[in-house]
Amino acid sequence: MSDCLFCRIAAGEIPSKAAYSDDRIYAFHDIAPKAPTHILVIPRKHIPKLADAGPEDRETVGEIVARAAAIARDLKLDHYRLVANNGEGAGQTVFHLHFHLLGGRALGWPPG
Ligand code: AMP
Ligand code: ZN
Repeated sequence: MSDCLFCRIAAGEIPSKAAYSDDRIYAFHDIAPKAPTHILVIPRKHIPKLADAGPEDRETVGEIVARAAAIARDLKLDHYRLVANNGEGAGQTVFHLHFHLLGGRALGWPPG
């Protein structure tokens, strides 16, 4: 989608700091980090939010989760959080599915 910020980032049309890239997944550093490590892991396919992921997207969503864990392992994060805000009421502001990988500090629970 040409008017989607994260589609444009995944396509390289808008600059970002890459953390991982393959034909289905792109990971990059959040522009306004909420923790010392704050990486966004997204599908290259435009899926607005987790609730819109269909049966055909299961493999990709699973790969995103596994990739986030691999990135955390590579960065030697001993604890971290992986979270997807689904919908405005949950804090979603960019409507292209993304998982936040947050680490490098103590993370309170429950989140606000
Ligand atoms: P959410 O609020 O869950 O939709 O998360 C969207 C995230 O995208 C926020 O943490 C923003 O800081 C981040 N963000 C917005 N624009 C950019 C950008 N151009 N590059 C990297 N991260 C961005
Ligand atoms: Zn998109």
